[in-house]
Amino acid sequence: MTPIKLAIVGLGKIARDQHIPAATANDDFELVAVASPRSTLDTVPSFPSIEELLAAIPDVTAVALCTPPQVRYETARYALEHGRHVLLEKPPGVTVGEIQDLAELALSQDVTLFASWHSRHAPAVEPARAWLAHRRPHSIKITWKEDVRVWHPGQRWIWQPGGLGVFDPGINALSILTHIIPGVYRLCAADLSYPTNCDTPIAAHLLLVGPRSVPTNIELDFLYQGPPAWDILIETDAGPLHLSNGGHQLHLNADPQPLPNCTEYTSLYAHFASLIHQHRLDVDISPLQLVADAFLSGRRIPVPAFVE
Ligand code: NAP
Repeated sequence: MTPIKLAIVGLGKIARDQHIPAATANDDFELVAVASPRSTLDTVPSFPSIEELLAAIPDVTAVALCTPPQVRYETARYALEHGRHVLLEKPPGVTVGEIQDLAELALSQDVTLFASWHSRHAPAVEPARAWLAHRRPHSIKITWKEDVRVWHPGQRWIWQPGGLGVFDPGINALSILTHIIPGVYRLCAADLSYPTNCDTPIAAHLLLVGPRSVPTNIELDFLYQGPPAWDILIETDAGPLHLSNGGHQLHLNADPQPLPNCTEYTSLYAHFASLIHQHRLDVDISPLQLVADAFLSGRRIPVPAFVE
């Protein structure tokens, strides 16, 4: 089959660390160009914008958008209006409405829109979902803590409106949670700590009631020093399930489980290719909806200014 001609837009950390290697290694794709305001790539033609890229290389059929979320809607809209399949990095946008709008546009254009959640492709996530399908959860505790200065050095967009602050990593936990135990999560309380010089929170504590009335406690911290804690602990009627290391390790009743040997972005690009071949959309806004609910109802707690 002829490879899908792919362009990557937004040549920052995640594009270089994950998208370029994963797309290049996948025979379904051929990376033919990139677009980014300042950054360029030696191996394929580089353009400062998607408009110039599509004008110069019209046979691009799919684009992966790896920009900060604040500029993703306009770029996605342009690509969809011009008949291209679109992969959105997480979070898919800065409002729920703009994702719904893009989904409608993709349907009307008969092209694929993939609002990706890379953490759902971590190797322990599907085994956890399969195990939980036959168990009754009693409680859920999520701890998602890392040092923003180590993992996102210099990324000012995280602290600007729409940048999500600690929910930028925290939404990865929410994307796993809403996948392994699907259903409605009702937010009961949220404490959001805002540095005095930032428009987004640096820490958060959420209390929710999940499907089947499961109490759900979520602690997010973006100033946590030492090895990151990316843990989901679920007590069930068949003992505890512990997903750790961001969905890369699974313990059931304290026993480590064998996992498939795959990487998140390899699986993510395989899914994007299958969506394109099947003319399907994959747009689940539930993790973003939970963040929106926290911003709607959360208590704002001022904390000292963030200094990088
Ligand atoms: P980043 O390093 O700041 O890179 C973002 C890139 O977007 C910059 O290099 C910038 O290009 C480019 N850009 C800015 N405005 C643009 C526009 N209007 N059109 C095209 N490109 C534009 O950020 P990142 O860490 O890669 O994160 C990007 C997205 O990926 C975020 O949504 C984040 O949540 C997600 N993500 C990040 C990670 C991670 O570990 N960092 C992991 C998973 C997902 P120039 O360099 O040309 O100025």
